[in-house]
Amino acid sequence: MTDQGTPARPETPAQTPEELDPYRIRQFQFHQASQYIAGLKQGLIDFFQSPKRTLSVRFPIEMADGSVRTFVGHRVLHNTVLGPGKGGIRYHPRVTVEEVQALATLMTWKCALVGVPFGGAKGGVVCDPKVLDRRELRRITRRFVAELGENIGPYTDIPAPDLYTDPQTMAWIYDTYDIMHPGRNNRPVVTGKPLDLGGSEGRREATGRGCLYAVERFLERHPLPDLRGVEGATVAIQGFGNVGAVAARLFAGHGARVIAVSDSQGGIEAVDSTPLDLDRVQEYKSRHGTVVGLPGTRTLTNADLLALECDILIPAALGNQIRADNAAGVRARLVVEAANGPVTPAADAALRQREVTVVPDILANAGGVTVSYFEWVQNNENQHWSLNEVNTRLREQMRAAVDAVLDQHRRLRPREAEGLAKVDFRLAAVALAVERLARATLERGIWP
Ligand code: NAD
Repeated sequence: MTDQGTPARPETPAQTPEELDPYRIRQFQFHQASQYIAGLKQGLIDFFQSPKRTLSVRFPIEMADGSVRTFVGHRVLHNTVLGPGKGGIRYHPRVTVEEVQALATLMTWKCALVGVPFGGAKGGVVCDPKVLDRRELRRITRRFVAELGENIGPYTDIPAPDLYTDPQTMAWIYDTYDIMHPGRNNRPVVTGKPLDLGGSEGRREATGRGCLYAVERFLERHPLPDLRGVEGATVAIQGFGNVGAVAARLFAGHGARVIAVSDSQGGIEAVDSTPLDLDRVQEYKSRHGTVVGLPGTRTLTNADLLALECDILIPAALGNQIRADNAAGVRARLVVEAANGPVTPAADAALRQREVTVVPDILANAGGVTVSYFEWVQNNENQHWSLNEVNTRLREQMRAAVDAVLDQHRRLRPREAEGLAKVDFRLAAVALAVERLARATLERGIWP
């Protein structure tokens, strides 16, 4: 920790021998969970562990300066047993097909777990949105959608926003698809749209809000020593973006004491045991682009934040943040994975041993896809639900998913004695999702 207002220490990347490849981590988690699914045939294991389809496209774009550049985009459809593919499209220079495949896998599990009738998908374009202007981004989006052709659609594969794509990007996707398919209601082709074009109330806040609803229900049913609810809990949040900032505000609104938050430049911690004033944090972040330096707070690194003594730690930024090399430093009692994959398998094991409970990503951050599903339903019915209706339905769906995971955890725990993998809430959640997929596959009957 450093003194007030001083810059955070630069963070050195961890030199760990552990597996950090997101796709292989998902395969490992799948294999751990599938041990618990009675009679899961090898052929189905093979089917569920890899994507159904991976499409990569290359296309030229005329840039603002008249030059031409070729871009690469991917769209992965992991599984469609429960319904059309669903998943975001990200724009980032480090997009890889393996990362997109891992995220598509996660979407399959997430949708199965929260009971939305979608399969898993994900997409990405390798580009740096920070150096592209708006017209270039629009051309990239339109051309990518055109290249994907019939591989996306309201009943085949439905994109959404992800890293560095937003409602505007979704509006361009809708418009392009609509021009390609005139004469019908094409609004359900994409979710996360602006409200004017059929976006849902509450979509922007849905992931942070779903996270709150999940934690509330989790602690109601599975109280930890001296932690029976969100009220009065101390909370530290890594990442003050869409998910982290919303979660901070909502947890505080429900009586939690948010004591630290961070972004890519570092973090801040409240002093004198008063929680952070989140309006001031937000205002400072809007003005300075970072939370670091807010007067009256202590500056800390992201590594410090993960090791803070608190009740609830919410990693809401990136994957692979709590690893073999720093898991022992975590002093929270509950880790809530608002980001995708912030806790690695080695860290899962270390935390489990120290009785630190992890609410896994496919449960904790499933509020986003749930409200995306609500948007799709509203678009199909040409309806617009009130914010209250959206939030009420979201709460019900999140609570039901938490109940199902807790019940599954209780059912599976005794079977550890058979020498199978340790049962934590991640394993229970993945096993439940895969069980539902397997059941649906067999009920449909393997074609032909
Ligand atoms: P965002 O881009 O709005 O915010 C990300 C935040 O993380 C920013 O504050 C950024 O400064 C911070 N950050 C970046 N690098 C960091 C680092 N090294 N250390 C600490 N903080 C860092 O993104 P978001 O939409 O809030 O998504 C956050 C995470 O949640 C991602 O993992 C995303 O995949 C996941 N997620 C998001 C949604 C959604 O609906 N937005 C749904 C499910 C999962």
